[in-house]
Amino acid sequence: MTMITNNLPTAELQRLDAAHHFHPFTDRAALAEKGARVILRGEGCWLTDSEGHRILDGMAGLWCVNIGYGRKELAEVAARQMQELPYYNTFFQTTHVPAIALAAKLAELAPGDLNHVFFAGSGSEANDTNIRLVRRYWQVKEQPEKRVIIARWNGYHGSTLGGGSLGGMKPIHAHGGKIDGIEHINQPYWWAEGGDMSEDEFGLARARELEDKILELGADKVAAFIGEAVQGAGGVIIPPKTYWPEIQRICKKYNVLLILDEVITGFGRTGNWFAAQTFDIKPDIITIAKGLSSGYAPVGGSILSDDVAEVVGSGGDFNHGYTYSGHPVAAAVALENLRILQDEQIIEHVQNVAHPYLAERWAKLAEHPLVGEARLVGLMGSLALVPNKTKGAKFASEEGTVGLRARERCFANDLIMRHVGDRMIISPPLTITPAEIDTLIERATKSLDECYAGLQKDGLL
Ligand code: PMP
Repeated sequence: MTMITNNLPTAELQRLDAAHHFHPFTDRAALAEKGARVILRGEGCWLTDSEGHRILDGMAGLWCVNIGYGRKELAEVAARQMQELPYYNTFFQTTHVPAIALAAKLAELAPGDLNHVFFAGSGSEANDTNIRLVRRYWQVKEQPEKRVIIARWNGYHGSTLGGGSLGGMKPIHAHGGKIDGIEHINQPYWWAEGGDMSEDEFGLARARELEDKILELGADKVAAFIGEAVQGAGGVIIPPKTYWPEIQRICKKYNVLLILDEVITGFGRTGNWFAAQTFDIKPDIITIAKGLSSGYAPVGGSILSDDVAEVVGSGGDFNHGYTYSGHPVAAAVALENLRILQDEQIIEHVQNVAHPYLAERWAKLAEHPLVGEARLVGLMGSLALVPNKTKGAKFASEEGTVGLRARERCFANDLIMRHVGDRMIISPPLTITPAEIDTLIERATKSLDECYAGLQKDGLL
């Protein structure tokens, strides 16, 4: 058999890929027909594909490469750790130095009394852990009936059966079903669903759906509420400023644990280490992954408050864990990533340089004839594409048609932006420079212009 290397022609790599690689969240037939884009290497905010295109990665991979590609320090740390101790578990009263060091570092960085870390291999696994943790919490407190978790429609918490059930994405529920004891309320998506309400009124109204749901189910049945600080996969939906304080008040009033999913928003994405700080939220559990290692190694986890750790910990064994919980190589890589974020003041760069510069240029995109609103928090942004600049307006075509066309123009212009329905989203590496932001905006504008011209030509406006 031929050796499969970077040197094979793109068409051959694509053929082999379609023949043997079953991709996540991909239409297999469409992939076989079009061929996947083959990415060979990355440096900073830039990717190179097998055709030699230099692509600006406006999504930091899947919202994860916070420090940018190609940092040799992480490779060196991984190589060293692999030689010293490539693997050992953290079950049954054993531990190792990378897991100890990473847990201690996270306790130092996380706000308030979030001082204890349960490790997982991904965000989905961490949220599965959270389901068990909160149910176990109430069992130990002798309220075993408190086991329902309330989440939001159009939230995303992973694609394991547990994570996918917490998420409120019907196409995911449709493939394999949902676990029991998860309920959904509406999302705080003012642009599309706010009607005539002011943004602040709408934020309160949507938060109060949590109270209604708790009263409907009975507070004695509800274990926890889970939400992303800012919905990511749902379209970068930044909640009204009234939303989180009200959610916090309701959780407290009814003794419902608050799980904040910071898989995307953690590690600088919103301009602070955690979005809990940006939005002044005091969760009982924070879910982490992605930016924890900048995607260089698969690692995730749950950061627990003193109370959650003490209660669950007082119940004897916690019957849960993954072979790779606290994996030493992943932990060492994550630790080095956190060192870089801290020593190079990358979060300060987001706050003082990249966010203010992008914010100004991003807001101007709202003047484009195809854009209804342009939103940005830290380095996480979205554009609502609309036919006539009216709030919440929809195209006559099936939702997502225009978004897909815009994404394809971005692809053709060597810019990675994603679409969620007819929203375009970005989440670039946190190290992005003003010059690279200029390139991002130029390419995005060109892509929007081309998309707009195409819609006019095809009579879709
Ligand atoms: N939670 C959120 C908010 C996410 O965005 C994601 C991934 N996009 C997950 C959980 C799941 O993480 P993973 O893909 O690492 O399982």
